[in-house]
Amino acid sequence: MIDIRALERWYQAHHRDLPFRQTKDPYHIWVSEIMLQQTQVETVLPFFERFIKTYPDIKTLAEADAESLQRHVEGLGYYRRFRLMQEAAKIILVDHDGVFPDDHDKVLALPGIGRYTAGAIMSIAFGKPYSAVDGNVIRVLSRVLLDEQDMRNSANVKRLDAINQTFIEKADPAIYTQALMELGALVCRPRQPRCDICPLQKNCLAYQAGRQETLPYLSKKEPQTVHACITLVLTHPKGYVLRKRSEELLKGMYEWPQFEAESIHTVLDHLEQLDIQIEIVGEPRRYRHVFTHRIWEMTVYQARLISGMHPEWQVIDADEFNDIPMAVAHRKIKK
Ligand code: SF4
Repeated sequence: MIDIRALERWYQAHHRDLPFRQTKDPYHIWVSEIMLQQTQVETVLPFFERFIKTYPDIKTLAEADAESLQRHVEGLGYYRRFRLMQEAAKIILVDHDGVFPDDHDKVLALPGIGRYTAGAIMSIAFGKPYSAVDGNVIRVLSRVLLDEQDMRNSANVKRLDAINQTFIEKADPAIYTQALMELGALVCRPRQPRCDICPLQKNCLAYQAGRQETLPYLSKKEPQTVHACITLVLTHPKGYVLRKRSEELLKGMYEWPQFEAESIHTVLDHLEQLDIQIEIVGEPRRYRHVFTHRIWEMTVYQARLISGMHPEWQVIDADEFNDIPMAVAHRKIKK
């Protein structure tokens, strides 16, 4: 059992003064929660401020140009979340007159909003008791309750979510949700939790058993797949030759022409069959970019387009280069 009052008191006294904590605006809470998925608070802060300045409400987000939206979040990764967010904004504009719905089922029905995000928005923005269980909360609860089940298994997370629901119903929902997240971020950290200053120490079963650092139990992840790529930093008299990605990973972002291949000769043969001629300039460089499930091992060649054009390529003017959304893995290899 959690000492809810002690947790709430601790939060009031110790929470960080983050910009999205100074508001109850559901749009702001929504933006912050989407940005914070898989991303550290420190990384999110400048993006959050800029995003809210550029897209101050649901209408501006819904009507934003998709490419400039992507440019605004370039560097945060997991871009699909922002595409879904814009889809959701369009739905809110049409179906809810541009007003963020305060009904849990309606929020949950929006693209890109799962149980966690819906619970966070409902509790923080509207003060309604809906559980929100993210990685930080899983860590705190599995330790306090000494729950040794595998938290990579969604059935176990769902069970923890149901327990958390019984707790939030006895609490101030907005404070409780943020307090658990904040405790997980600042005190009940993955390594070396600060049990000495923790408001939940008295009832924490993992602390009593000396098992804090072994929880939560997470079974081994699938290994990342390694992809050998030949990447061409390709120039043209009128600018740079780039391709807009259509794959789910980094969809809509621009990239240098890239081929899954071990050797430049395979790529040159392939291009020749398409009547495309390029000239390689200088020695290749090697870069590695790690995504969640895959690694790109890139061998990067500087090259000039001599003749022909691939149907998926576009020539982008050098002046426009900094304004287009581009995969970070590829922006960094330009020079
Ligand atoms: S006592 Fe330690 S392990 Fe238990 S909730 Fe607090 S910080 Fe986490």
